[in-house]
This record gives sequence, C-alpha cells and structure tokens, in this order.
Amino acid sequence: MKRIGVLTSGGDAPGMNAAIRSVTRTAIYNGFEMIGFRRGYEGLLEGDVVPLSVSSVGGIIHRGGTILRTARCERFTKPEGVREGLQRLREYDIDALIVIGGDGSFRGAYELHKLGYPVVGIPGTIDNDMAGTDCTIGFDTACNTALQCIEKLRDTASSHERLFLVEVMGRHAGFLAIEAAVAAGAEFVLIPERKFDLDLLCKKLRYARERGKNHSLIIVAEGVMPASELSAQLKDTGGYDARITVLGHIQRGGSPSSFDAVLASRLGGGAIDALVRGEFGVMVGRTTGRITTSPIQIAWEQTKSLDEDMLSLVDILGI
Ligand code: ADP
Repeated sequence: MKRIGVLTSGGDAPGMNAAIRSVTRTAIYNGFEMIGFRRGYEGLLEGDVVPLSVSSVGGIIHRGGTILRTARCERFTKPEGVREGLQRLREYDIDALIVIGGDGSFRGAYELHKLGYPVVGIPGTIDNDMAGTDCTIGFDTACNTALQCIEKLRDTASSHERLFLVEVMGRHAGFLAIEAAVAAGAEFVLIPERKFDLDLLCKKLRYARERGKNHSLIIVAEGVMPASELSAQLKDTGGYDARITVLGHIQRGGSPSSFDAVLASRLGGGAIDALVRGEFGVMVGRTTGRITTSPIQIAWEQTKSLDEDMLSLVDILGI
C-alpha cells in the first residue's frame, strides 16, 4: 500500500478538518502519500483530487466545516456509480480510501468494500446516531453551540415569564436534544424515538405553573415535528403562547470543541493504524475511552441505544 485517499461526505460536522489533518499526517508519518477528493463521492466520480501534504493540512485543526468540502451524490448510490468510483480510485493508483461522514457515507464505503476495495470509516456527524462509537465527531461541539443559544433564551424567557420552544437538529435521533436539555436545565425534551403525548405535556406545563415556575423551556428535536406546529398544538390544546427558536444550521458550524478536536485527531490516527494492520471494511470509534474498530456496517445495522437515565434526568430535574 503506497497511496491513500480521503474524502468527507454527507452532512458536515465540526472536527472534520482535524480528522483530515490527523489522517494526512499519520499517513505521511507511516510513509504513505495522501490524496484528498473534494465534495465527497461526487468528487471521486469526477476525479476532483487534491494532493495533501504535511503543510497543506496546517492551520486547519481549529476550523469548522471541511476543507475538502462535502456533497450528497445520487450517482454513487447506484451499482454503476460505485463501479465507476472504483475505476477512478484505480486510475489514481489509490490503494485504500478513508471516508469521513455519517452512516449514509459509510454505506457507500461498504459498497466499495464489497467489491474488494480497502476502506476505513471515520464517524463524523453532529447527530451521534451511529453504533460502533460512543460519540461521533461534531456532536460535542453541536451540544455546546446549542447550549450557548439556549442559555441566552433562558435569560429572556425568565425575564418575560415565557414558555420557549427550541427546535434542535435530529431528524431520526434525539441524542443532541437530550444532551442539550440536560446541560441547559430544560423542563421538557421531545425526541423522535419516543411517542409524543400532547395532553401529558400540557398537564406537566400546568403543574409547573401551579408550583410557581415563571418560565419553561421545551427542547424539541426536528424529527418530532416543526416547533411552529408544536406551538400551534400547545395553543389549541392548552392555551399556551410559546415563543419559538429554530437553531438550524448554526449547530453544524464553528470551531470544534477541545473534545472534538482530540476525538478527530485520535480517530484519524486510528484509521491509518487500522489500514497498516490490514483491517479493512471497518469503522474506527471511541468506546469507553479507547480507540476501537468494528465492521463498518454496524453503523446502520445496529441502533445506538438512548441513555434512558439521561431522559429520566430531564424529567427529574425539570420538576
Ligand atoms: P451522511 O453520511 O451524513 O449520513 P447521507 O446519508 O446523505 O449523509 O449520505 C452521503 C452520501 O453517501 C450520499 O449522497 C451517497 O453518495 C452516499 N450513499 C448513501 N447511501 C448509499 C448507499 N446505500 N450506497 C452507496 N452510496 C451511498
């Protein structure tokens, strides 16, 4: 193995640059050449390559986004697209590919692996919804970003004695919502994994008001319903007049937290180590503090379980 490729794909996440830097420098340290593909699988198919050197990945560890940029590529989801990608990798003499992204991006990598091509996945998504790792790159930063915004909202919510609804990202997973709710001391959290009971929520809000709470914060993951719809339902059912904030894409941006910069650096190194050991078709992860590898398909075949204790904590602490 002489030359290794790397790409970032799907949703971006803070810390992806730190992972690119680590992959590149660890590869060069081990005597490999590094090539980056811009714009995920789209760039792979189009041969949009950029050589990566020790210095070209300098000054990026703290930068949000991804210098390689990212994209979604419909063409790559078809068998012809994957075959074409494989052909491109061979044309550029690339012996293995590292894919930084979420479970969709890993599915693409797995298709290459099934054709006998060496791949390793690095989990990067703010959703943290991937098995095979306790945390994905970008999750911690996104939680901190959400927390900073929610703290500001709480100030005004308490001054004006208001009910605030904050919509956070998470179409299918509530990890970010739960983490932000516990950290911000929110009264309620609604997540896609749990059926939502409007009557129960209204009852809890009434109870909170009777006990003298002058403001409340509800964190709702976008996958449950848009905050605007929830607000309308609360108005119709309980007469509540909630203010809405949708945090949106700011949760994806910003410099990685120290946790994410370290995680990305460790996983980047771990990905090259896996290739050196001849472990292909795997994802690297951080499991109870250690860098581990698992078959890449674990990312979508296994559902990462929610921490029930964290969910109860929101209820207990929000009384
Ligand atoms: P994420 O990696 O953040 O989960 P997506 O689900 O959008 O993001 O996936 C990113 C890209 O990965 C897709 O645009 C597509 O190119 C590729 N991909 C996703 N699923 C598959 C699949 N089943 N086969 C091949 N490629 C896939």
